[in-house]
Amino acid sequence: MTTTRFAPSPTGYLHIGNLRTALMNYLIAQKTGGTFILRIDDTDPERSKEEYVDGIKRDLEWLGLSWDRIERQSERLDLYHDAADKLRGIGRFYECFETPTELDLKRKKQLNMGKPPVYDRAALDLSDAEKDALRAERAGHWRFKLDQERINWTDGILGDISIDAASVSDPVLIRGDGQFLYTLASVVDDTEMGVTNVVRGSDHVTNTATQIQMIEALDGKVPAFAHHSLLTGPQGEALSKRLGTLALKDLREQGVEPLALLSLLARLGASDPVELRSEMSELIDGFDISKFGTAPTKFDVNDLFPLTARLLAEQPLSAIAEDMSALGVPADKAEEFWNVVRENITTRADIGPWWDLCVNGAEPVIADEDKDFVETAMTMLPDAPFDGETWKNWTTAVKEATGRKGKGLFMPLRKAVTGQERGPDMGSLMPLLQKVKR
Ligand code: GLU
Repeated sequence: MTTTRFAPSPTGYLHIGNLRTALMNYLIAQKTGGTFILRIDDTDPERSKEEYVDGIKRDLEWLGLSWDRIERQSERLDLYHDAADKLRGIGRFYECFETPTELDLKRKKQLNMGKPPVYDRAALDLSDAEKDALRAERAGHWRFKLDQERINWTDGILGDISIDAASVSDPVLIRGDGQFLYTLASVVDDTEMGVTNVVRGSDHVTNTATQIQMIEALDGKVPAFAHHSLLTGPQGEALSKRLGTLALKDLREQGVEPLALLSLLARLGASDPVELRSEMSELIDGFDISKFGTAPTKFDVNDLFPLTARLLAEQPLSAIAEDMSALGVPADKAEEFWNVVRENITTRADIGPWWDLCVNGAEPVIADEDKDFVETAMTMLPDAPFDGETWKNWTTAVKEATGRKGKGLFMPLRKAVTGQERGPDMGSLMPLLQKVKR
């Protein structure tokens, strides 16, 4: 049985990069009937905001990524205390006193000498008296003492990984002000919650190496790890700067359909092609983490709109019923109206203008050279209500009277009636038109 988790920090709204992680963890749990945990990583009281916790839940609910369990790290601090004590007890935790400036200086020196900027473990040489003296000046922070050996795992996406622990700084797990840092909290939670599979971004690969040692030191079971590549913009540019504009709530407001978004993200960067799914169950069945590649994955927000349009075009009326009643479309007209407009919208927001056209008519658009033609044609159009034959009969009569045919006949009439060059089949639209502005 798998247990996965999505562990956002509530320091901002979820964006497209977070969604990739959430979706993969969700799908893995669903595939095996396992448990999907939403874990709110809120150990940083200054940066964590309730507004973002609510935003995260709203976004996941909108997408249908329902969680089986929700946990907050801020309510689990006792467990982190116990783990810290345990690590101290087995000699894997040590107190350090360097200030950020001192650490920075050390790093610069190492880099100047062509060495990797790894923490030099100077604090391990401090005597008790030296530590007491330093403690009187400033609060110490705590580092996990890595065993300096290679850390190996088989990654679900990256394959065999081997990292030399000596090339990594001993991670700080408790800050000077006593705040537990993510690495400790995450390891404790993954172990205590029985997380079996962790999927996260490849920016976490080094964290994973240190976390494996921590999990082992705490006698936990190391989960299966998979690190997905990071998303880039359409030209391969880093997405991080633009992520603010790719918040899920903004995409929702722009009318992107949840399953269009999920269908794209469930396959983006995988060897299988993107397939538009209208059911979550199809997404679950079609998901295979081993199909994902390691290269950075290009994401273009504009791809979401054609997918949204296609998805909407496939929807039965029942999926649109709420929109229809909000617009005041009478129940006996809804089916006919939906069939007429479904192929002519990008998002749900485009349905309203079509209904407005049906009820109120559109401002005619008439090119100068078509003025007389349209004027003549309009005298031949009967008053509403129209029926399924109206367009055919009208255009046939206009053709006979004016000699126009083809595009020269139909386009000016379409523009005069709908105010637009493109739209639904006119024969089907006419019966829905309650008014034509002349
Ligand atoms: N809160 C961490 C983050 O958002 C979680 C990373 C993880 O999945 O362990 O980066």
